Amino acid sequence: MGRRSPQSILKRAREQALREKRVDACLITHLPNVRYLCGFTGSAGVLAVREGKRAFFTDGRYTTQAREQVSGAKIVTAEKNGALQAATEWLRENVKGKVGFESDHMTVAAHAHLVKTSKLKLAPTSQLTERLRMMKEAEEIRIIRSAVLLASAVFETILPDIRPGMAERSLAAEIEYLCRRLGAEGMSFDTLVSSGLRSALPHGVASANPLPRKGFVLMDFGVIVNGYCSDMTRTVHLGKPDAAARKMYDAVLQAQLSALGTVRAGVETTEVDYAARNTLEKAGLAKYFTHSSGHGVGLEIHEPPGLRKAAPAPAGKRQKPDRLEAGMVITIEPGAYVPGQGGVRIEDMVVVTEDGCDILTPTLKDLIVL
Ligand code: ZN
Ligand code: ZN
Repeated sequence: MGRRSPQSILKRAREQALREKRVDACLITHLPNVRYLCGFTGSAGVLAVREGKRAFFTDGRYTTQAREQVSGAKIVTAEKNGALQAATEWLRENVKGKVGFESDHMTVAAHAHLVKTSKLKLAPTSQLTERLRMMKEAEEIRIIRSAVLLASAVFETILPDIRPGMAERSLAAEIEYLCRRLGAEGMSFDTLVSSGLRSALPHGVASANPLPRKGFVLMDFGVIVNGYCSDMTRTVHLGKPDAAARKMYDAVLQAQLSALGTVRAGVETTEVDYAARNTLEKAGLAKYFTHSSGHGVGLEIHEPPGLRKAAPAPAGKRQKPDRLEAGMVITIEPGAYVPGQGGVRIEDMVVVTEDGCDILTPTLKDLIVL
């Protein structure tokens, strides 16, 4: 894991170069990509890749760590001007042609500085390493599964503590504390807890508001284990749910199950989204489903592919959606958010297989009434 051959990036780079620009080397600055390609987990490192040769650059704080972690690349500790500067000097000496940089990640300021000082022939590249990262290896799936199981165990443990009157923020804090106690390195993102009318905010950050006597409590959280993220959402109900609340929950659950039912290698991502959206449409809730149906997860919480609605074709062109491939790890997370009433989201993580999917999240999805 994390020891990809430089050729594979260059191959991707060249595939894309056929359509765009040819590059002879890549400057990898986005840290999750650096980690994926050479194993380095620190916060300052740059990887330069040329056919048959690669070099990793860091600063004095990370010399020891780089020696322990980095494989398949020469390790260079930058003297005074930093890792990026050292990497560009190496590229200038080792590469004659174009050097691709990660245009999705490099800041305008860093790019302007490189243009001014490096004398490299820079060419923007997009998603080269990210496309490689979409398909997870068995070892990566094993780690992701352990992260998912840890978060699910926390959900089960926290249920008896969820009570009316407790602040959303306290519940989020309890969740995060338990996750750390059980061995999480950190959270994949700030835990979302939204309750009552606030549950109608699809991305409701936990507030100081108390949980209501009666209403939904939506919890969306994930942990990091060995660098890999998990992501899950469950929505429970405090007090006896009325008919409208039950109807909403059931519709979202059906949408989630029908989206799950479409997942397999070869299917277009828009088809999975359509399954969820169409089910909610039948329940009259499609207009309250205001986000995508899911996303890839790995070293980052949001990775390609995105499971979005089919984009309206721009004049004459049909934009091709991604197709699912075996080994992708994605979330399936439809929701409905009705202002003045409340919201529901149900989110699982799955591994795409040739004939379906392996659902990683073991937590039950029947409505839990507390
Ligand atoms: Zn989530
Ligand atoms: Zn998610």
